[in-house]
Amino acid sequence: MSDPATRLADIRARIDHAAKVAGRKSSDITLIAVSKTHAAEAITPLIDAGQRIFGENRVQEAAEKWPALREAYPGIELHLVGQLQSNKAEDAVALFDCIHSLDRPSLVSALAKAMDKTGRQVPCFIQVNIGAEEQKGGCAIADTPAMIAEARAAGIPLAGLMCVPPLGTEPAPYFALLDKIAAENGLEGLSMGMSDDFETAIMLGASHVRIGSALFGARG
Ligand SMILES: *Cc1c(COP(=O)(O)O)cnc(C)c1O
Repeated sequence: MSDPATRLADIRARIDHAAKVAGRKSSDITLIAVSKTHAAEAITPLIDAGQRIFGENRVQEAAEKWPALREAYPGIELHLVGQLQSNKAEDAVALFDCIHSLDRPSLVSALAKAMDKTGRQVPCFIQVNIGAEEQKGGCAIADTPAMIAEARAAGIPLAGLMCVPPLGTEPAPYFALLDKIAAENGLEGLSMGMSDDFETAIMLGASHVRIGSALFGARG
């Protein structure tokens, strides 16, 4: 694989191109570099190349890796893209600048409490189980309007909706559906699109793309 700076430039160029084709501004699309499983030595070359927004999927792993990196590099923004247990809500609110996995009422109350306690207002995406998959995290499509209302009532700042379409299927219909649900509920942000499908997601309105392996190489 090429060096990290080249990979980052390549992804940025592909984001720019997809945005242009879609008649959108690429500055409206946030690239989250998903650094889960990768050590600091793999992350710093991307920071040196200008990337500042990173994603992790586990609170514990992020708590081990990021405080030192943040001290060394100012201006880092950290996003949680993985499932969150209610008992880790306070750690997550203290550590992350954005949470993409709000998916159940018990987590709404845990996060609201944690935000109250820490005084940190962390924007959250509601994760929708867009393919209605048995094992997958995310709130059922039918329950999404109620989840949005609950989160709003609890004072949680909502960034939008997030999804991970079923593996091995054409993702476009799922991205379009997430966009439709967001529009129906007055939400603008759409966290959707990963290494294999981010261009499609951008054409269908993604505001945040979460890219891991295309930037870091395959996870071990
Ligand atoms: C790992 C992960 C990503 C990045 O996936 P790649 O296919 O490596 O780009 C994006 N979103 C979530 C929720 C993830 O867990």
